[in-house]
Order: sequence, then structure tokens, then C-alpha cells
Amino acid sequence: MTPQLSFTSFSPARNSTDNHHKKVALTASFLTHCVLLTRDTKNIAEFSAPQKNLAIHVPFLYRDQYISKALVRAQTKGQARRMFYDLHVHSALSPCADNDMTPATIAGFLALSSAEVISVTDHNSALNLPAAKIACENYGIKLLPGMEVNTAEEIHILCYFPSVEAALEMGEKIYQTLPDIHPDPSIWGEQFVFDSNDRVLAKPDKLLAFACGFDIYTVKALTESMGGVTVPAHVDRDSYSLLSVLGFLPDDLSFFAAEFVNPHKYDEYRLKHLLPDGLRTLFSSDAHNLARLTREPLPKLEWDNPLMKLIEKL
Ligand SMILES: [Zn+2]
Ligand SMILES: [Zn+2]
Repeated sequence: MTPQLSFTSFSPARNSTDNHHKKVALTASFLTHCVLLTRDTKNIAEFSAPQKNLAIHVPFLYRDQYISKALVRAQTKGQARRMFYDLHVHSALSPCADNDMTPATIAGFLALSSAEVISVTDHNSALNLPAAKIACENYGIKLLPGMEVNTAEEIHILCYFPSVEAALEMGEKIYQTLPDIHPDPSIWGEQFVFDSNDRVLAKPDKLLAFACGFDIYTVKALTESMGGVTVPAHVDRDSYSLLSVLGFLPDDLSFFAAEFVNPHKYDEYRLKHLLPDGLRTLFSSDAHNLARLTREPLPKLEWDNPLMKLIEKL
């Protein structure tokens, strides 16, 4: 089947003052025909009417750029678009999250917000991911298996995995290093492991929110050894963040992205040389309750974001 490609985010005439061409390019959204890729104008007769119109009106110079973008997008096999996401959500397994944050409820609410890929990222545990995976499948959205690890330095790191099994394996390693502190629900809140029908299956014996025994280097290396990736969480927060704890990003810790709470803070941090140029940014909710979960609108993940490599394989 011919892939449907959207060009709404691509403006080949961005630097042009020619408003006609800019309008044509910006409003174009059509089925790419392989004939277009031949760049042979004599085959324009084979185009459908909208394609023909576009092919005639987009100047040849711009069309070359169009075609290279189209080729790259087509090669992404069905992911040739951006995806609405929320990749940082806590279920009621996290002691600080509300008890009604069940995997099925999270998936349902985010589906209503048009989410296409979500991640349930509980503190130091992946035990609600099997239920979350089933719930996401029921709602037709993708689950990127995740976890928010609290490192030995008290830095929150989002870890994303290629499978629920890999996340569970990492969760077990983390759990072994947690201090043996029993969670008192009256102080810390409940820690519920659910099935996909919101039935409580278990309550872990250790408090999950504490710092684990692995430093940030070990957490990153372990995650990557399982085919996953790590993203420092809420770097613009005053606590439990990479920058609030270390004050800088060490050269030997390279991340492809950082999560921000405030989408407008990236430039400020970059200008202070606290973060490298070209770093990707994520803006997830870090929701611990339904009110935060239902914010609108959701951000979109770029089609060429490295996380897409994990998401495509789910
Ligand atoms: Zn956090
Ligand atoms: Zn969090």
C-alpha cells in the first residue's frame, strides 16, 4: 500500500518571500506516487488531480527537497508522522500517585486525549507494565515500557525499554538494591500492582520511592545493555533532577534527550551552557493524578526522534 505522507510540518519555501509557493508547500498533504520519485515531469499525467496540481506548482528546486524528505519518511515504514505522546506517567504503584491511577484508567484517559504512544514510568518498578500493555492494546495505543529510576545520587532518570520483559528484568535488579524499608501507607501512600481489570494483585514489601543502589552511570549502562535508552527526567526542576543534583551534565554522560517540565526552559538552559546544542526535548506530564493526566494538548514526538526506533518495534 502506498504510504500516506504528511508534509504539514515541512516548509520548503520557508526562506522564500513567495507566498504562493509557501502556501502550496504548507498545505500539501497527499499520497506519494512512485512516479513522483522519478522526478520526471513527463509522468505528471499519471498523477491524480491534487498531486498533479502540486507537482506543477511546487518549483523544481523545492520538489527535490520534497522528494528527499518523502524518501526518508517512506523508509520509516508506517511511522511516517509524528505521534501524540505522554511518556512519563505514574500508576498507583508509585506511592506518591493517587490510588485511582490504574493502568486501565491511565490508558483510557490518554486514549481520550488522542495519545498514540504512552509510557507508565513508576518509581523503581515495572510491575504494572503487563497490565498497562493489555490496557493499551485494548485502547489501540502503544505502550513504551518504562520506569523512572531514582539513582543513588537521588537523580530521576527515565528508562525506556524494547519490551515489558526487559523492563521487568531491570525492575528486579533495581528492587534488589532498594533499602529494606517497609512502606507505611499512612505516610507514603499505597503501592498497588494491578491486573488489566484494576484488581489488586500485590503490594511490594519495600518502599519504591527511595534511591536505589545504582549510580546514574550504572543505570544508564544497564538500560542500554538491554536495548533501552535513558532520558534525564524534569531537568528544570529544583529537586531530583540531573541539573539540581550535579549542577551540570558531565561530558561522559551523553543523553540524546532531556525531559523538561516547562517547554520554554530549554533555550534558557542552553544559553547558560548547561545543556548541549541539539539535545532533544521531551515534555511529558509526570502525572500522579487524573487532573494532571488530562492536560491538553499532548505534545508530538518527532518522526526522527531516536525513541521512534524503540516504538516502531513494539
Ligand atoms: Zn521524578
Ligand atoms: Zn515522575
